[in-house]
Amino acid sequence: MTDKKKTSQDSYKPDWVPENAGQEFATKVVKGKRITGKTEKRQGAKKLRTLSVDEYVSGVLKCDRTITARTITLIESNSQEHFEKSQEVLKRLLPYSGKSLRIGISGIPGAGKSTLIETLGCDLIGKGYKLAVLTVDPSSSVSKGSILGDKVRMEKLSREENCFIRPSPSGGILGGVARKTRETITVCEAAGFDIVLIETMGVGQSEITVRSMVDFFLLVLISGGGDELQGIKRGVMEISDAVAINKADGDNLEKAKLSQTEYSLALKYIKPITRNWEPKCYLCSALTGYGVDNLWEEMKKFEKITKQSGFFEERRKAQSLEWVFTIIEENLKENFYNDKAVQREITKITSLIHKGEILPTTAAEKLLHTYYKK
Ligand code: GDP
Repeated sequence: MTDKKKTSQDSYKPDWVPENAGQEFATKVVKGKRITGKTEKRQGAKKLRTLSVDEYVSGVLKCDRTITARTITLIESNSQEHFEKSQEVLKRLLPYSGKSLRIGISGIPGAGKSTLIETLGCDLIGKGYKLAVLTVDPSSSVSKGSILGDKVRMEKLSREENCFIRPSPSGGILGGVARKTRETITVCEAAGFDIVLIETMGVGQSEITVRSMVDFFLLVLISGGGDELQGIKRGVMEISDAVAINKADGDNLEKAKLSQTEYSLALKYIKPITRNWEPKCYLCSALTGYGVDNLWEEMKKFEKITKQSGFFEERRKAQSLEWVFTIIEENLKENFYNDKAVQREITKITSLIHKGEILPTTAAEKLLHTYYKK
């Protein structure tokens, strides 16, 4: 680089820049640092002291935020050593869990879920509740969270002392994310959070997964064209306890009211997922706060009715059993596909299938036989 291209102390122009070019080509050059050896530490990085099972447990029970966050990190770890330790911690925390109201919130990106969680969350904290917000988003591990981008979500809520926000664990299939989220709920409840909100951004399978771990499931929609009912999967409505038409404000209010009428009608033809509870469609605006308190009142009513009827407990027990079977299924699958003999057989079978020389049913039988005859 020649001196004439140096425009100030630290602003340079690259060599290829035309002679008489202006400041638009200026670039800031940061001097590189030579790495001298393995022992060089990242500046400011401090290695965290390993905690014992006792320290994790007592930290969570005292609602120490740092230890609670570290416990969740331990759960999210994929290492065998961490897995064993996390299971020990969870076993000890389990008796203190189960006391929160678990709420699932779903809807397509842009429907206003995070704005709604922010508005509802701040209201709940104002009412004296302690709130944990978790997300289940298997796509974030693939897209590296591109749905959320760099946008700071729930900015006000994240500054609240009584709120704990934890994004989806990264790296993994939905099954893994689901197990970790269930365990994270246990940690949050043991730490004394009395409402756990679980947000999901996926469409399809992740909704079913979240439904299997919450008491109340809210679907957030926005008004759109007349044929919007076709756009939303009927299946998601079938698992919802309430539908909220968000963005019911300004010029959009009238359109939102029309959508409310349509969805209310559609809900009448759907078999309710919760006994003694008829799902309804509500209007709200996460931006102005309109209808948000009403949503919360409905959730409280739901809790009261289902607790009185015994359905709340019944569903929790069924969910625990489902959790057991999910773990078993995952374990069996993992064992099967990690088996060396099975892996060799899969290579052979794949080629036979491609050539059309074996029936899929025979192929599956052969693979299972390989696995079980060990
Ligand atoms: P998410 O992807 O479902 O979490 O949606 P966001 O909460 O990020 O909201 C998407 C966009 O809609 C943002 O620009 C919000 O400001 C806007 N938004 C959210 N809720 C409302 C609302 O009630 N009214 C209006 N007018 N805009 C809203």
